[in-house]
Amino acid sequence: MVMDLRIGDVLRLRRRHPCGSIDWDVVRLGADIGLECKKCRHKVLIDRPTLQRRVLSVIERGAPVDPAIEQALFGTTSNEGDAASDESDD
Ligand SMILES: [Zn+2]
Repeated sequence: MVMDLRIGDVLRLRRRHPCGSIDWDVVRLGADIGLECKKCRHKVLIDRPTLQRRVLSVIERGAPVDPAIEQALFGTTSNEGDAASDESDD
């Protein structure tokens, strides 16, 4: 499953932060996803595949962004020459 993340999403993770919270705000999108703890505001960067394994649920969605803007910002449909994804089309 491909996660469609937005800035402002609130994710519930399987693993509890030492402060006791399991809910995190999405604050940065990219090769790594930036999360901020809802309770203590601690920030972490986590790579997308790891995050996908740890997410229990998305409990709140961020404000929808115009798809054209979202694509310009995050390149949701095209790869930016990053070696992370290596898809072959034939
Ligand atoms: Zn915390």
